[in-house]
Amino acid sequence: MKLAHLLLSFCLSSPLLSADEILLPDMGDSTGTLISPAQEKALGASFFRSIQSQLEISHDPEVQNYIQSLGYHLVANSDSPSQAFHFFIVMADDINAFAGPGGFIGVNSGLILNSSNESELASVMSHEIAHVTQRHIYRAYEAATLLSLPAAAALIAAIVVATQAPDVGIGAISAVQAGSIQAQINFTRSNEQEADRVGIKTLAKAQFDPRSMPAFFEKLQQASRYYGSAAPEYLRTHPVTSSRIADTRNRAEDYAYWQVPDSQSYRLIKAKLRTASNRSANDLIAYFNNRLSLGTLEQKAAMQYGLALSYAKQERYQVAQGILQTLIANFPNQEQYSNASAYLLTLEENTAKAKKAYALLEKRYPTNDQYKFAIVALLIKTNQAPQALQRLKEIPYHRQNSPDYFLGLAKTYEKLGNPINFHRYMAEYHYTIGQTLQAILQIKLAQKAKNNNFYLSAILEDRLTFFSNEILALKQLQE
Ligand SMILES: [Zn+2]
Repeated sequence: MKLAHLLLSFCLSSPLLSADEILLPDMGDSTGTLISPAQEKALGASFFRSIQSQLEISHDPEVQNYIQSLGYHLVANSDSPSQAFHFFIVMADDINAFAGPGGFIGVNSGLILNSSNESELASVMSHEIAHVTQRHIYRAYEAATLLSLPAAAALIAAIVVATQAPDVGIGAISAVQAGSIQAQINFTRSNEQEADRVGIKTLAKAQFDPRSMPAFFEKLQQASRYYGSAAPEYLRTHPVTSSRIADTRNRAEDYAYWQVPDSQSYRLIKAKLRTASNRSANDLIAYFNNRLSLGTLEQKAAMQYGLALSYAKQERYQVAQGILQTLIANFPNQEQYSNASAYLLTLEENTAKAKKAYALLEKRYPTNDQYKFAIVALLIKTNQAPQALQRLKEIPYHRQNSPDYFLGLAKTYEKLGNPINFHRYMAEYHYTIGQTLQAILQIKLAQKAKNNNFYLSAILEDRLTFFSNEILALKQLQE
């Protein structure tokens, strides 16, 4: 199996792994070849960087937290509850979801907006989780397995991007490889059946409605009849046939019927994603206004929340704040309303009030790092760089590799008049979001600044070599 070549070239090219990590025999892929957890992790991280450089990923922490917690809840109820996963949202109207190496699962905002309830969203995610836990993805991405790690990750990302937007994403890859990609996109029919079978079990165990899986498939099938060649992208990689719908319906019938209410977070994230799309503020206001009197108190509140965000999009902050204050008074424990109010104060440049609002949120929700980053951004804005630096040092270690963290550090050092560290952390920021050439440029700028620190010079040289090696490995794709 070609994966062996991947591992060999990976050993030679990756400075991240020590020899004993490479020898770890663990998860076999579908054909029994071995890939260690460390290698899979590195491949996944590289894949995600590549995806970020080509697709618009939501960086809204509230949106990220929602999809992560829904995803983790499903994983906890899957066959592999301890496997690593990372869920993220792609801002695109197409109905699509995909699984990459290392448990990276992307869900389009369009899929969420087209779901009728949270169980439908969860059914697609359970299906994708099953593709990962059943190790289908390595077979689907076989074309990538001849390459070194960064090249393999970039090729898998290109396959995903190609299904997302057929005309872009193949740019960096030769025609020969692009041709072989097409053959690699589809999961096999038996993979699909297995992912349905395993996914529906996860769905039911996680207390979602198993009947939502055939219901969503049916919706996709109708859409494909209606749209013809412009059918939902999801169907290109996961073809829905009548027999799949019948199979999943039969399986769903094995479970007793129970009522599954949507979480309020699902409703609020859906409203937020709708306002973050490119729909005009007027259309959005009309949409939410038409639904203000429908459903339960919580459903009405979600429409009010969407309305407030739509007014904010029109910069009518007073109207938006008025709606939010009523929501906060009625639902004081719904975190999203207070967060939206604090964010609006930031947009209005009411910095003092915004700081107070975020300080309250931070005190109330100490494990939610988004408020710490919001406070850092405000401290930088008001020229309190030393305080910002102190705050960044308090960010938990596991969050010290996020783009937010590196950007915060870079901007703080810029204010502190420290160009070396400014460029150094800008380089790390660009690298995390997949812009490796930009990262190299920033390191070179850092090296041009006056520097008497031998230790820092060595770090810069080391990072330059690391980033440059990755670019060299990617050149494989153009040969
Ligand atoms: Zn599938």
